[in-house]
Amino acid sequence: MNPRSLRFRIAAWYAGLLAGALLIFGVSVYLGLERYLYGNVQRTLTAECRTIGTQLLSQHPFKRTNWLETEIEEAYAPEVNNHFIRVIQQGKGIVYVSGAPKDGSFDPSQVPLPNAEDRSRKVRVEGKRLLVEGLEFTTPDGTHFTVESGAPYQQIEVVLHGLLLTFAIYMPFIIFVAVGSGYWLMRRSLQPVDEITRRAEGITSTNLSERLPVISTGDELERLSVSLNRMIERLDDAFQHINRFSADASHELRTPLTILQLELEGIAQSHRLNPSLTDQIGSALEETHRMSHIVESLLAISRLDAGEAKIEMTRLDLGQLAASTTEQMKLLAEEKSIRLTSTVDSDVYVEGDRSHLQQVVVNLVANAIKYTQDGGEVEMRVRRNGNTAVLEVSDNGAGIPDYALPHVFERFYRADKARSRESGGAGLGLAIVKAICTAHGAELNVSSREGKGSVFSIELPLLDVPKNDEVRPAVRKI
Ligand code: ADP
Repeated sequence: MNPRSLRFRIAAWYAGLLAGALLIFGVSVYLGLERYLYGNVQRTLTAECRTIGTQLLSQHPFKRTNWLETEIEEAYAPEVNNHFIRVIQQGKGIVYVSGAPKDGSFDPSQVPLPNAEDRSRKVRVEGKRLLVEGLEFTTPDGTHFTVESGAPYQQIEVVLHGLLLTFAIYMPFIIFVAVGSGYWLMRRSLQPVDEITRRAEGITSTNLSERLPVISTGDELERLSVSLNRMIERLDDAFQHINRFSADASHELRTPLTILQLELEGIAQSHRLNPSLTDQIGSALEETHRMSHIVESLLAISRLDAGEAKIEMTRLDLGQLAASTTEQMKLLAEEKSIRLTSTVDSDVYVEGDRSHLQQVVVNLVANAIKYTQDGGEVEMRVRRNGNTAVLEVSDNGAGIPDYALPHVFERFYRADKARSRESGGAGLGLAIVKAICTAHGAELNVSSREGKGSVFSIELPLLDVPKNDEVRPAVRKI
């Protein structure tokens, strides 16, 4: 569970808000019920006091001694109802107090006398809690009485405790169920986002024709995927435009350059030129050769990128092809006294275009020779690794600085511009390698340490070894 994910954060917010709402609800219900229950008992007790005060006390002075006691007990039966009633006459003291209740839970004579400002109070008598209400009365003859009525309120506490317990058990359960189902729902509704993200990750400049899945739900996600698809379409158009532009430009430049080259060669062969002019024309010819090399390379890359290059996929032995190509480059290595070796496994069959894969080997080995000092070593290896065929070109030359590594496959990128240009490089060799690898669905990697050397590797899906070493053509044009 990722705490920064949208799912988690919404579920956490949801849980927080729900817990807050339930807490407010619980507290209000608890306080409301408490008020209601206590209020009810208080009202009953006050009514009792008032009846005693208004109906009985006014007659009290004129009656016999036990009259008040008999009247109260007949009317309210406090002992039977577990109630407490007390009448206090100012200056005379207690004129009536009810007897011990039937359940013997408290002794009424132990109930503390009221003080002037505390008529409604909670008292504790022998561990029993009582709610006592008191009212003052003055009879027509001017006598002051205080009538008190009380009852145990344990029952209210039991109800309130029960309510608290119910809340304590059910609230976490409700929150858990609500958050759990909320999280599950979020997961379900955000699943398309995962799918869109996964597919969007896979879309690069090489497969811009692919589109994201559109879930027809009519909601924001559908709108988002439709908008993203429109954006990818626009990007696709822009990329195609750029590719077409460089392909067209290179194509258009080819003919004038060839004419220029031929004209210059014609002039250079003329005997009537003085030596300095011959030198100048020679140098101009060199530059036109360089230019046509660049134009040809650009055209090749653009066609490969646009999927317009003619690629004939055949089953071929990568080891044999790479070894024979490397062999042809021995002379180039000898010029710099570089030891060029090839080590290949037998029967490493892949599906690929022969001339393009040769071009890959040529470019990688030529680079390795170019960027390795005299007397260095370059090795070309082809091996099987599980289900893949691996072609590796390694050298112990100059290496590539860390900052340049991510860019070496870009067009016109040269890590060491001066050295690269000196040796005729324009920064397109590796871009061609990359375009060919992409067209073959091959993986291209480089690792290098400055001053120690570099390793370029290409991984292609390995094919089964054919039964009779015959090469079966499986021509595919992509
Ligand atoms: P260039 O024509 O300049 O060689 P590439 O596209 O073939 O262009 O290579 C791009 C850059 O990558 C080169 O300029 C060089 O700095 C670096 N590079 C390529 N191969 C090697 C290698 N084997 N050793 C060191 N640097 C290399």
